[in-house]
Amino acid sequence: MSTEDHIIYLDNNATTQLDSAVVEEMLPFLTRFYGNPSSGYEFGGRVRKAIDQARARVAALLGCEPNEIVFTSCGTESNNTAINSALQFEPRGKHILTSTVEHSSVLRHCQDLAKRGCEVTFLGVDRDGNVDLDELERAIRSDTAIVSLMWANNETGVLFPVEKIAAICREKGTLFHTDAVQTTGKIPVRLRDSAINFLSLSGHKFHGPKGVGALYVNRSSRFRPSIIGGSHENGRRAGTENVASIVGLGKAAERAVECMAEETTRVRRMRDRFEKRICEMVSGTSVNGAGAERLPNTSSFSFEGIESDAALMLLDRHHICCSAASACRTGSAEASHVLRAMKLGDDRARGSVRFSFGRFNTDAEVDGAIEIVPKVIERLRGLSSPASPDVLVLQSLS
Ligand code: PLP
Repeated sequence: MSTEDHIIYLDNNATTQLDSAVVEEMLPFLTRFYGNPSSGYEFGGRVRKAIDQARARVAALLGCEPNEIVFTSCGTESNNTAINSALQFEPRGKHILTSTVEHSSVLRHCQDLAKRGCEVTFLGVDRDGNVDLDELERAIRSDTAIVSLMWANNETGVLFPVEKIAAICREKGTLFHTDAVQTTGKIPVRLRDSAINFLSLSGHKFHGPKGVGALYVNRSSRFRPSIIGGSHENGRRAGTENVASIVGLGKAAERAVECMAEETTRVRRMRDRFEKRICEMVSGTSVNGAGAERLPNTSSFSFEGIESDAALMLLDRHHICCSAASACRTGSAEASHVLRAMKLGDDRARGSVRFSFGRFNTDAEVDGAIEIVPKVIERLRGLSSPASPDVLVLQSLS
């Protein structure tokens, strides 16, 4: 049996399994239909129609118009592009307002822009990961070019009230971008009549392919592309289209529309059952962001007295895939910037493990995880002592 036959994959915020309907729809565009969508002949036109269909499907998922969708290479590119556009085009100034808990594709980009002369305000969060809307309103300045705040946090699943935030920004006359990479396909979105100017999404987070994303650009918002060249994407993102992946993203969007209602209920039930049982069975466990509105699929735990890296290694030996707060942090000795921003204390940040559920998880897998996780945590607690560092402890475990 290969590893993937018996893994319990509980890391759906890191990436997701491709839906088989997505693969099926992509295949002809990796084989037979290789024409360039910009070519004038019918063989290219066939491909262009497939891209148009994908655009309509993504628009249907977001409740917006197809011409408001720009395909990109990933969520990171979408986030960078929205911020860059506002800075280049917005005459109001060079001030950016964001938060301390953003994904690195916003956080690091803003830190970099700050080094290059932009002024950036990083809003803090409370112990549940919420932003204070009064503080946000006060922090918007007359020269704020853009407010960029994520919809759902990838580590804790905590949701920011983006519609309220967008309304505040509109009132203040500033642009608003939201990183919706973790919400897309998980909760309903309706951008028509919303005050959101830009929204980012990524295919691989909702059972589509990796290396493709989209940026929603509200039709009345001014926009400047980041990648300059040909007139692809109506002049908004140059470069020959990643056709098969765009087709896959479109199909993933269509599947999300079909599945969302049932899936949200089922995934939330699995997540809640898992969370409840783990809290009952493992003393010294807390759920990060428990007091906030959260995504239905995410559980971020802090286990007292353990190091998350050690827990991950041992869970991996039991074929459970999960992560220490976020995929980008795995293997890093530094505690999560999100949990540190929530001021939960270093111990709680160091002992954090994130489980995220998705479309293809089963109740039997949840049962399996409920059996293994408490044993792993208790074993680590029993074995860890100042004289036996985690790595040595792990080496001694079979
Ligand atoms: N934003 C959030 C909240 C994410 O979780 C991620 C990926 O983990 C990204 C952006 C980046 O998306 P991509 O992997 O498509 O660049």
